Amino acid sequence: MTVLEANSAASFMQISTSDANLGHIDHFKQFLYSMQEARRSIVKCILEKVDVPKDLILVLESTLRMLTDSRTVGFQRKMRTQFDTFTLNIKDEIIGLKKDLEILSRYKNGSLEASELETVLANFHPISPEKFVEELDACCSFLVDYVESAQPERENRKPLFITDWDGTMKDYCSQYATNLQPIYSAVCMAGFAQEFTRLAAVLTAGPLRGPGILDLTALPIDGPLLFSGSWGREWWLDNHRVVQDEGISEEGIDALERMKDEMGILLKTGEYSQFALVGSGVQRKVDRLTLGVQTVCGHVPAALSERYQEEVRERMHRVDPYNQILVFDPSTELEVEVVAHSSGSVWNKANGVSRVAEIKGDSLRAPGRVLVCGDTMSDVPMVQQAKHENPGGVMALFVRPSEKIRESVLAVVGDPTRVCFISSPDVFHAAAARLLETKSELD
Ligand SMILES: [Mg+2]
Repeated sequence: MTVLEANSAASFMQISTSDANLGHIDHFKQFLYSMQEARRSIVKCILEKVDVPKDLILVLESTLRMLTDSRTVGFQRKMRTQFDTFTLNIKDEIIGLKKDLEILSRYKNGSLEASELETVLANFHPISPEKFVEELDACCSFLVDYVESAQPERENRKPLFITDWDGTMKDYCSQYATNLQPIYSAVCMAGFAQEFTRLAAVLTAGPLRGPGILDLTALPIDGPLLFSGSWGREWWLDNHRVVQDEGISEEGIDALERMKDEMGILLKTGEYSQFALVGSGVQRKVDRLTLGVQTVCGHVPAALSERYQEEVRERMHRVDPYNQILVFDPSTELEVEVVAHSSGSVWNKANGVSRVAEIKGDSLRAPGRVLVCGDTMSDVPMVQQAKHENPGGVMALFVRPSEKIRESVLAVVGDPTRVCFISSPDVFHAAAARLLETKSELD
């Protein structure tokens, strides 16, 4: 075990000794973040093809034991804040750990057969194990076309891979703050990016940190995938956060920072502390704060959610007394946004997708294909942008799209052989594992 791994296991043990406090949300979050450190160390071992230290597996096992103890009933767990109790749905956290442990138990001599991974994941498919196999076969032939489009005669002309995160590469989780990526997902994505792409990037709506994608992923954050948050307005490049804040005034950025501080104080006070774990929690994006106000299960009493939103407006008034900088946008039933006024056009993922290529001195243009993965309407502009720049090379893989999104994607790409629909991120992960295995057998 390296020093890093030893520290990770030791700090976990320290936290887990305060098990009695795990009913408190702050301990609960810290406990899971500490477990995620162990997951990252395990991913590193697997990618380096070295044995996974037993202590790290123990961290995962004891986390699962804790999450499924008598305080969790039907995936619902009662939690405490300083003044109140509330309920969290921790199904995604539990299922992720179950899959990881089952898959890790099948690891032999530093490797895992793709068929073993498929056996485990098939049972978790949202429709049926048979449907999993059917989608997996289709996804594999789709990805074979993608991989074989590489042009070895042109130096490093492998295709591009640009993907959304939530709902596409990661199953949805009730609370953003503990939406943690499992190990198998990170291993499959890293292998795919490394072997088959010249540039692979994650483009998510959430922020990079605080918590953000860099805190929640189990992938190494410095490659082989490039991470971006806030719809491609912030990037993690060479160990630095690079921000694209054109169109947002200095006052806007300053007001958002102060607003975030105000929210930090608000969440430490009494009844509102649970909102750190309600849906989106508090996400500081480049041009806005996104605030969760209700869970998908409707766990938050309506009156409490109302009072919280009133408090948010009150904090906005403190920061921006003349209503000149910040706008309150009640976006959905589950979240509201505090947005800094911006001049110029509205930023969407199409801007982000072009920026990713530019940032790396590359482009979406031919020669070479571009695979865009997503699950919602906000991902369709990425496909449109790729189509615009590379009409013959755009490919799209969408996870559980609605009928309307299916039609849009097919219409944009204009060639059904370059479109693939699957029902779960796991189908992509298993397909990537199969392709990697075939490649290593050929090498
Ligand atoms: Mg999504």
